[in-house]
Amino acid sequence: MTALGKLTSLSKNATDFIDDASLTAILKGPAPEAARVRDVIAKSLSKEALSVEETAVLANTDDDELVEEIFDAARELKRKVYGNRIVLFAPLYLGNDCVNDCVYCAFRRSNKDAVRRTLNTQEIRHQVEALENVGHKRLILVFGEHPRYDAEFIAECVRTVYSVRVGHGEIRRVNINAAPLDHEGYRIVKEAGIGTYQVFQETYHHETFAKVHPADTRKGNYLYRLDALDRAMEAGIDDVGIGGLFGLYDWRFDLLGLVTHALHLQTKYGVGPHTISFPRLQPASGVHVDERYLLDDHDFKRLIAILRLAVPYTGLILTAREHPDLRRAVMGFGVSQIDAGSRIELGGYTEAGDAQCMEREQFKLGDIRPLDQIIRELVTDGYIPSFCTACYRLGRTGEHFMEFAIPGFIKRFCSPNALTTLMEYMVDYASPETQAAAEKLIADELAAMPDGKIKIELIDRLHAIKTTGDRDLYF
Ligand code: SAM
Ligand code: SF4
Repeated sequence: MTALGKLTSLSKNATDFIDDASLTAILKGPAPEAARVRDVIAKSLSKEALSVEETAVLANTDDDELVEEIFDAARELKRKVYGNRIVLFAPLYLGNDCVNDCVYCAFRRSNKDAVRRTLNTQEIRHQVEALENVGHKRLILVFGEHPRYDAEFIAECVRTVYSVRVGHGEIRRVNINAAPLDHEGYRIVKEAGIGTYQVFQETYHHETFAKVHPADTRKGNYLYRLDALDRAMEAGIDDVGIGGLFGLYDWRFDLLGLVTHALHLQTKYGVGPHTISFPRLQPASGVHVDERYLLDDHDFKRLIAILRLAVPYTGLILTAREHPDLRRAVMGFGVSQIDAGSRIELGGYTEAGDAQCMEREQFKLGDIRPLDQIIRELVTDGYIPSFCTACYRLGRTGEHFMEFAIPGFIKRFCSPNALTTLMEYMVDYASPETQAAAEKLIADELAAMPDGKIKIELIDRLHAIKTTGDRDLYF
């Protein structure tokens, strides 16, 4: 054991696969020819993942007309691969004690203004009841990094969350965003029935990583963190999420870092990440960051569109850090999941009012609208909000998920499941206005569906949900 704890257990043949000099060199090239950009776009429209060099071609394109073509292609690819579903979840912060000192985060140990709190079992139950009472089915549990939040503790929290039932309410999928674990730790949390385990590298740029994560902290170990999800894979968690905190360094570099990471997992384990998150740095209590690399909205849109094209089968998560207007504008660019009705103060779902309290949260959220309002907006814009959890519960994860991520899968499984979960929401939780909008969307979607066995079965299930207590009817 070192002073920083036991950080020695890496994956087999663990390597630092991020070569800063090579990524920087790729980005330094001249602006690509229009024909080359169009070739790369055409490749991704045929649903092939892009190489790092091809991704850089899109990132190096500043020409307005070509950037518009990238946006259009991202919209088209999203429609082709994911249809018009948007999966909804909520974050649940369980503890903000932290031994790290990440300069951008209000939970960092040197922030004396932070109100420290870890929810007990009863408090977790209250938060989950509040979330179920508004219709949530999928949560991500978030933790600071602290010895008390070990794998056993996380697993116990997961079991508590799954055990809470109110009326037709239940949480059917619990994802985790917590510190990297060792192999044994991942086995313990897997046993508790988790969905995705997320660890964000924050920035792939070594020098910047070292600047924002002090060396005497656990998080300051670049390789241990980069290797986090390799260990998860080896321990049997084949459903992992990577992410970058955008605004710490040049967005193009970190975009290439994310693609390198995705390709690394795909090559080494035959399974890429299930999701990629790309949070933008937000104001946080006592945080003063170097503003040089903050991303404006236009570049943020470019980032999302290019990610969509680079990794066609990886889910993209857009969080409530962003403001409602921007969320609405970029939804069509390739985002597949959003959080909604989110509060990130500890205990926020029962205790927070309309205003946010910076001393009680990790950073400021841009969108704290209630779930019902966000669902109404999605439905009105022609998206099907989905609370579907079928794949993970039927073992369609990792390699199997990749197999299923083929033409026709979405139509056969995802869209019908999105409609049954929307019907559940509509019957059990929606306001009258949202009910009316959802009813119309479900009718329109059914009318557009080709006749056949799936449609007949789906109509039966929708009817059962509407007229009986039957729930959780997934394909
Ligand atoms: N503490 C664990 C860790 O750092 O890996 C769990 C995750 S932390 C609670 C959740 C994520 O919030 C971090 O990975 C980081 O990307 C993000 N975050 C931290 N400070 C932020 C800020 N000021 N603005 C936006 N996102 C931030
Ligand atoms: Fe702690 Fe995570 Fe915040 Fe870093 S980002 S200070 S590890 S909670």
